[in-house]
Amino acid sequence: MRMEKVNIKWEELGFDAIQTRSMFKATCSIDGKWSGGSLVPYGNIELSPAAGVLNYGQGVFEGTKAFHTSKDNIVLFRIDRNAKRMAWSTKRLCIPEMNPEFFKNAVVATLKDNFDYVPPYGKGSMYIRPIVWGTAPALGVRAVSEYTFMVFLSPVGSYFKAGVRPLNLKVETDYHRAAPRGIGNAKAIGNYSASLYPLTMAKKEGFDEVIYLDANNENQIEELGSANLFIVKDGIVKTPKLSGSILDGVTRNSVCKIASELLKLKVFETDVTINELIKSDEVFCTGTAVVVTPVGKITYNNEVYEINKNQPGPIAAKCKELLSAIQRQEIDDPFGWIKPVIKGS
Ligand SMILES: *Cc1c(COP(=O)(O)O)cnc(C)c1O
Repeated sequence: MRMEKVNIKWEELGFDAIQTRSMFKATCSIDGKWSGGSLVPYGNIELSPAAGVLNYGQGVFEGTKAFHTSKDNIVLFRIDRNAKRMAWSTKRLCIPEMNPEFFKNAVVATLKDNFDYVPPYGKGSMYIRPIVWGTAPALGVRAVSEYTFMVFLSPVGSYFKAGVRPLNLKVETDYHRAAPRGIGNAKAIGNYSASLYPLTMAKKEGFDEVIYLDANNENQIEELGSANLFIVKDGIVKTPKLSGSILDGVTRNSVCKIASELLKLKVFETDVTINELIKSDEVFCTGTAVVVTPVGKITYNNEVYEINKNQPGPIAAKCKELLSAIQRQEIDDPFGWIKPVIKGS
């Protein structure tokens, strides 16, 4: 039996929030444990103007995807890693630490109830957004007494409007994304508000995104506002090591494994300098939303450097192809990354 779908123009999907049937909602007090919760109709929520999240940014989120696969299943990809990261992010922001099982059950329940909104095989994917924040009021700075967790989702196409064109990036020399020992390695909402101004300025200048430098050593690169970064030189793959201010991306880790174990390349999580970056044979970025996207141009101190003649490189292409093929069950999943949630035929 083929799964019936709702009436959405799958070919025209971009990366915007589309309303679906339902969302998951649970609450927890500061000294309680996450449990229970239920599906509620998708819709707006009410909040006190003094809510912790509005006044002091006490909120974190996750991002993962479900796929309708070539075997007609609906599957999740490495949801355990998102669950673990959510546990870390909540702890770091003084939100009751979220139990990974509770997190996974909520994601699965939301996905099952909205299965007919998952784009058909070959037509995009279902972006899943778990989010948790301080709901109770606070006037003085402190961790508030009540928290709300929700999971909503949206069918999506590709993240960058450009489609397959390599990205045009700028090395950001005026602003940092994250401070050493700050919250850069948590998926905290404040990290993204901090990146909006540099991103908006860069977009005005015609760039797609910015590359942030290490605040401790401005000769070294870290990542983009919402994606990790890789370089390739003479067949060797490098990505900045997890220093505490870089987000530990699920896609980053998956690409490292694919490159080393399937493509048999040398992969190093290490320091990466700007000099190495601009002399690379290939540069690409990774993330749940952007998957694997090649970079064709990098501007640093007003100098423009072309990477691989502004063409997508072969290693990025191979990593993307293998990652997508595993996610869509077109090839075997040698790593045990796929979790079927709804079985098709
Ligand atoms: C979410 C995110 C990434 C990518 O992580 P994935 O788990 O691969 O989606 C990279 N950098 C930042 C800053 C992020 O917020």
